[in-house]
Amino acid sequence: MERDYTEERRRMVDQQIRARGVRSARVAAAMLDVPRHLFVPPGLQGAAYGDHPLPIGSGQTISQPYIVAVMTELLAVEAGDRILEIGAGSGYQAAILGRLAAEVWTIERLPELADLAERNLAGIGAENVHVVTADGTLGLPEHAPYDGIIVTAATPSVPQPLFDQLADGGRLVAPVGSRGLQYLMCYTRKGDEIVPASWGAVCFVPLIGEHGWEE
Ligand code: SAH
Repeated sequence: MERDYTEERRRMVDQQIRARGVRSARVAAAMLDVPRHLFVPPGLQGAAYGDHPLPIGSGQTISQPYIVAVMTELLAVEAGDRILEIGAGSGYQAAILGRLAAEVWTIERLPELADLAERNLAGIGAENVHVVTADGTLGLPEHAPYDGIIVTAATPSVPQPLFDQLADGGRLVAPVGSRGLQYLMCYTRKGDEIVPASWGAVCFVPLIGEHGWEE
């Protein structure tokens, strides 16, 4: 029989997420629910619940569980929300968002990872999560506005199209800074105003595209 890693998941949520101050019961429930081991390469399943990112191929990573929890909590997702993610990777963050929101669109620039994310998300029956292969620095105007936008790759500044596609009262969470070090920022749109808040230092793979870094 295949392992379901329920105990590992419980420990991950208790020790890495709740113990470090993530308060949201909805975020904890989603992270208890989504089988993270199905979003890492088969040979790394035993390490899927460790307190660190892991390689997923193509030079990219699946984010550390704690950082996924923090970003999801900052986004303050509500049940009816429409969410946009930039940087699907293997689809784990999108799967968490799919448990909390009404609809999720996640953009991935590398076709092989977009395929992987699509397979992984189909595998857990996440029918409200849609994977798009494109340059996410342009956003996804056809489904805008979004109640929440989450960028899971490092960007020198927030691409303007993303602010343009954020609903009034909506939040945008992104790691903003240099290629080596960023600050995790949470911006709230209040009418024409964008109100920034900084969570702290983080380190992500680069956002590559028209409004991001050059390859
Ligand atoms: N959200 C993922 C993290 C993936 S790492 C998780 O749940 O673990 C960041 C991803 O962003 C990489 O897969 C990378 O290929 C992708 N990426 C980088 N620049 C991008 C862009 N302009 N548009 C879409 N995806 C991009």
